[in-house]
Amino acid sequence: MDVVIREIEAKGIMTKSNLPIGGYSVNPYLGCTHACRYCYACFMKRFNKHDEPWGQFLDVKTWPRIRNPRRYAGQRVFIGSVTDPYLPQEEEFRRTRAVLEQLRGSGARVSIATKSDLVLRDLDLIAEFPGARVSWSVNTLDEAFRADMDSASPIERRLAAMEAFHDAGVRTTCFISPIFPGVTDVAAIIRRTKGICNLVWLEDLNLRGGFKGDIMGYIAERRPELLALYQGIYNKGDRSYWDGLDAEVRALCEELGLPYAVNDDSDERPLDAPPLVVNYFDHGKIRGATAKGAERAR
Ligand code: SF4
Repeated sequence: MDVVIREIEAKGIMTKSNLPIGGYSVNPYLGCTHACRYCYACFMKRFNKHDEPWGQFLDVKTWPRIRNPRRYAGQRVFIGSVTDPYLPQEEEFRRTRAVLEQLRGSGARVSIATKSDLVLRDLDLIAEFPGARVSWSVNTLDEAFRADMDSASPIERRLAAMEAFHDAGVRTTCFISPIFPGVTDVAAIIRRTKGICNLVWLEDLNLRGGFKGDIMGYIAERRPELLALYQGIYNKGDRSYWDGLDAEVRALCEELGLPYAVNDDSDERPLDAPPLVVNYFDHGKIRGATAKGAERAR
């Protein structure tokens, strides 16, 4: 795939977050060459008037060096809210690495979301940050389905990276998102990752974006046996699938001895404790839950 790459100057790289938990977000790139078919961030295209399809352009940012990094001490700094900070192009441009180097010693609590194992390159640097967290999106263990949906690292490489960070004492999250009804085997992913992460975050596939037609077409063509289920959920608003999944995950957590919560990841459990499993897919329950520390990745 040809990618149109431009270098652009940004006024700054730290953006105050509008999430309820506050903190800052940092996106060293505009655009994302992982090109996920279900990407919620593709609205970013509007801001830089790109004609290329999402995934086929990348603006590489430069910015004035972060001034007074100590002002971010104790603040959550979320790297990669509308791009992946470890795209293949990061190997050459090292813009995410530049952010980390500029924040080194600041006391900022960095949180990184990725679908790549290139993040291993920066493990030592990330481990220096207090309370650092790294999350990998894993919504399938089926490599063929993964390759149909994104151009990021194969799943086994993401899991190997998760394990390396976990072994190095950095908090890790398995971000099971987006959950594709009837496709994503949530139980199998939890069983596979429970020993290498501190948090499992479960989020449903949202088809409100412009990609709804593409995803429904994919299901009709490749998984026709699921089409009625998808039409029920995404055309008629039937939430019973998510109620069933909630019951299934609750039972699994009981069996495995894992704590289960709804929309609350504020519990900072010891690093060697079993992971907290968080339901962020059952919106009926979420509306009634007390959201103390929800931190949205992507
Ligand atoms: S990795 Fe995230 S930002 Fe990048 S294309 Fe996929 S969903 Fe979008």
